[in-house]
Amino acid sequence: MDFDAIVVGSGISGGWVAKELCERGLRTLMIERGRHVNHRKDYLDFSPPWELPNRGLVPEDEVKEHYAIQGTSYAFNAGTKQFWVKDSEHPYSTPDDRSFLWYRGYHLGGRSLTWARQTYRFSDIDFSANKKDGHGVDWPIRYADISPWYDRVERFAGISGASEGLEQLPDGQFLQPMDLNCAEHAFKERLEKQHPTRRVTIGRCANLSEPTEEHIKLGRGPCQLRSVCDRGCGYGAYFSTLSSTLPAAQRTGNLTVITDTIVESLDYDHAKRRVSGVRVMDTNTKQRRSYQARVVFVCASTIPTAQILLASRSEYFPDGLANRSGAVGRYLMDHVQGVGAIGTMPGFLDRYYYGRRPTGIYIPRYANVTEDNSAQFVRGYGFQGKGERPSWDRGIDQVGIGAGLKQGLRDPGPWQMVLFGFTEMLPRADNRVTLHATRKDQWGIPLVHIDCTHGENDLKLAAQAKQDAQDMLNVAGCENVRSLFPQVSPPGSSVHEMGTARMGRDPATSVLNAHNQAHDVPNLFVTDGSCMTSSGCANPSLTYMALSARAANHAADRLASGEL
Ligand SMILES: Cc1cc2nc3c(=O)[nH]c(=O)nc-3n(C[C@H](O)[C@H](O)[C@H](O)COP(=O)(O)OP(=O)(O)OC[C@H]3O[C@@H](n4cnc5c(N)ncnc54)[C@H](O)[C@@H]3O)c2cc1C
Ligand code: SF4
Repeated sequence: MDFDAIVVGSGISGGWVAKELCERGLRTLMIERGRHVNHRKDYLDFSPPWELPNRGLVPEDEVKEHYAIQGTSYAFNAGTKQFWVKDSEHPYSTPDDRSFLWYRGYHLGGRSLTWARQTYRFSDIDFSANKKDGHGVDWPIRYADISPWYDRVERFAGISGASEGLEQLPDGQFLQPMDLNCAEHAFKERLEKQHPTRRVTIGRCANLSEPTEEHIKLGRGPCQLRSVCDRGCGYGAYFSTLSSTLPAAQRTGNLTVITDTIVESLDYDHAKRRVSGVRVMDTNTKQRRSYQARVVFVCASTIPTAQILLASRSEYFPDGLANRSGAVGRYLMDHVQGVGAIGTMPGFLDRYYYGRRPTGIYIPRYANVTEDNSAQFVRGYGFQGKGERPSWDRGIDQVGIGAGLKQGLRDPGPWQMVLFGFTEMLPRADNRVTLHATRKDQWGIPLVHIDCTHGENDLKLAAQAKQDAQDMLNVAGCENVRSLFPQVSPPGSSVHEMGTARMGRDPATSVLNAHNQAHDVPNLFVTDGSCMTSSGCANPSLTYMALSARAANHAADRLASGEL
């Protein structure tokens, strides 16, 4: 055997698996399709706006030619461009009338470099939702199974947040929370008075408000509140593969990393019921080869993981590896976005804030938890948001001219409150990823075809969330309250794609068991978002981390006991 374990992908989930396996003494190979990125050296977080081309904007022509999808992300700019794929080089297909926005970064660290670091636990309300209302299959785990792993990943990643004692948003191992500003305090007080069933808290985020000894040992420092995190952070103050899990794995001496190497498919040995090889292609030379290991973890993220499994056809798995259930590629989910509101909060004009806090406020789910909406829809939604005073650049769309305009822009604008909804999407078999029958990419690999729409319940939730956002700003005394978006955004917009190799109790209807292990292939594990059985409404990456750490330790135990 070349290695004890192979991990496909170096993003949030692959990083966690590699760290845990290496710490358990397993010789681990991490295979990443994108280029190598050097922590610190390759980031542009110390470049002031005047040193970035076009003051940080990417020319429209370039966006149109190369970044038609990626360029629509709020986080895409000249400082982060290197962490987004060129759509022109990495095409995928959708039906003509149904778009799916697929945001990606192919490089060491994956989207752990660009993520917004919002980190919320799922609760038993989420883990039992499918069973309760019959949409999707039952999760094979409950909160008690994952809770110690949330503890473990939170301690290591460093999550700043406040405990709230809520059933729907379990508390965790938090570092000191960041502060609400005066407008947010007022919003909280007024909203909670009018709606005692709702709660406003500071956003829980993977930024080190106070590093522990373990963080410092890894070379991580305290957050400086610069809020340029999506360029990479030279202080290592937010959790990413490069700041955290990769150095932890590397210090064991058990990790080998190869970049610029695409995993095309997995070989299957029917006699042994095992994955027997990982087939790869060098992205530059197009040379092919294969690696062997005792266990294989696929953590390429939800859509590429489905692509790899579907491409791994054999006599015994004609529809793709571990796909006896037919569930691989199906039940694709995201959170519905394009729901939100903005309003002006009168007063507090003598108050400001210091720094650029890298998180906002959070309103945990209340629909069908502390309030009964069951006559309208199942599940619920949460809100992220913030209060801030706009700077001089608000003048861009302000009517005016000359000295009067300039003088007026010297002072910050009035306080504004914004809320963005994240609403749960139900798992539906028709929302799926398949391999394109004829089109291939530059490496000769079939393109993925993504067919995904919002269902009736998803849209009902979004409509109510849109109304609630405006109502909440109104009851908090905001003025000129208006909706932020004319309609919901296409699926994919939340960058929370999930579900294409779901966990479940029954091998006939699911791909993975309670330990993220393929029902059909014991040495195959999948721990990225594809394993998710339902989407909840909270940002999911913390759950991928906990499931990854849990599955890696399960595999290490089984290897040690000789069962694998
Ligand atoms: C702007 C932005 C904001 C976000 N904010 C949040 C947030 O606040 N909270 C939250 O929970 N989530 C957030 N997310 C989502 C979060 O980034 C993802 O959920 C998370 O990164 C998924 O982890 P992953 O390991 O599955 O995939 P990724 O991090 O995408 O990593 C997958 C890796 O696999 C590699 N790969 C793919 N295919 C292959 C192949 N065939 N062979 C070899 N390697 C391959 C890729 O190059 C990549 O490096 C955000 C994402 C973006 C872009
Ligand atoms: S806000 Fe904190 S984590 Fe983000 S770039 Fe600045 S120092 Fe790093």
